[in-house]
Amino acid sequence: MGHETPFFVCYDFPSHHESEHRMTARILDGNKIRDQIFAELKDEVRLLTAAGVRPGLAAVLVGENPASQLYVKSKIAACEEIGLSSALLTPPATVSTLELLAVVEDLNRANDVDGILVQLPLPPQVDTKHILEAVDPAKDVDGFHPVNLGRLVSGRPGLVACTPAGCMEILRRNEIKIEGANAVVLGRSDIVGKPMALLLMHANATVTICHSKTRDLPEFLRRADIIVAAIGKAGYVEPDWIKPGAAVIDVRTNRITDPIEAERLFYNFPDRLEKFRAKGSALVGDVHPDAVSTAGALTPVPCGVGPMTIAMLMSNTVKAARLRRASPKFSATQSTASAR
Ligand code: NAP
Repeated sequence: MGHETPFFVCYDFPSHHESEHRMTARILDGNKIRDQIFAELKDEVRLLTAAGVRPGLAAVLVGENPASQLYVKSKIAACEEIGLSSALLTPPATVSTLELLAVVEDLNRANDVDGILVQLPLPPQVDTKHILEAVDPAKDVDGFHPVNLGRLVSGRPGLVACTPAGCMEILRRNEIKIEGANAVVLGRSDIVGKPMALLLMHANATVTICHSKTRDLPEFLRRADIIVAAIGKAGYVEPDWIKPGAAVIDVRTNRITDPIEAERLFYNFPDRLEKFRAKGSALVGDVHPDAVSTAGALTPVPCGVGPMTIAMLMSNTVKAARLRRASPKFSATQSTASAR
């Protein structure tokens, strides 16, 4: 996947007495949940490996895009941390669709490869859809394959896209009530908005999907108990669009460089403004940072959804190994993050 955040330095929220700004939201720390999931996966990988099935991830990194190199590096590091085997394939930026298809087909055939990750974006001469659809659905740890999307629609087990799966883990592990909740998903992309809405619906929320053509967006948001924002617009969701006490999952990481925008977003966060001035840029979600005074619970950006995406990639790889290679007896005894 080409869209997640590598390890950024998290910022501290000032405590109540340090800030004039009233803070009410519980901060939903993605790093903490990632660490919990990694610990659970380590145990499961140990058991699987002892049973002769060491889960393995193969990453295909085309060309030399520095951001992609960084993402893949952090994924390989995560594999090492939890005990997965990993392989890195690096076709040149000039690779053709046919050549890349041959790479994917080799990986489909390799029994010790449980997960195939094709790092996006691919160069313009490559047919990205064709490549992603060539990945064996049983090894599609990004959950992008139409077969896995179809399974999600019909509520059957499969591999689910990592970012929305990570948002669900954040909600569940923080015991945020989903059943019966009014949930609004902001954004309708294939990899975040749509699967997110389906996961919430299967968890018995009443789901509304909003997008760029939605009229009266603030009115929809004000009725939401849960908001998942994935639009890619820094600080777009205003604090007074959020129902007091709502849970807010802020998916996107936006880099801002405009000092006027920084003033608007960090007016109540002098430390962040100071850091912006020193660095010339800062990371913010789609939700205005002042939402911390209206939301009941809020994921920070960075260090909210970002770390969960990698955790769910690891979880999907272990799950893929268990489903494809481990005996049914083994599968029946597992109850960790990868079993979901
Ligand atoms: P996306 O594909 O860019 O889709 C954006 C969605 O937001 C669209 O559905 C769009 O509506 C909607 N939208 C845009 N402006 C809006 C507005 N003013 N009001 C309401 N809705 C609006 O974004 P995505 O689903 O977040 O994921 C795709 C990309 O996101 C990836 O390639 C990656 O770069 C990034 N990503 C980052 C992270 C992370 O940092 N943790 C995680 C996941 C994804 P329309 O459909 O009407 O155009």
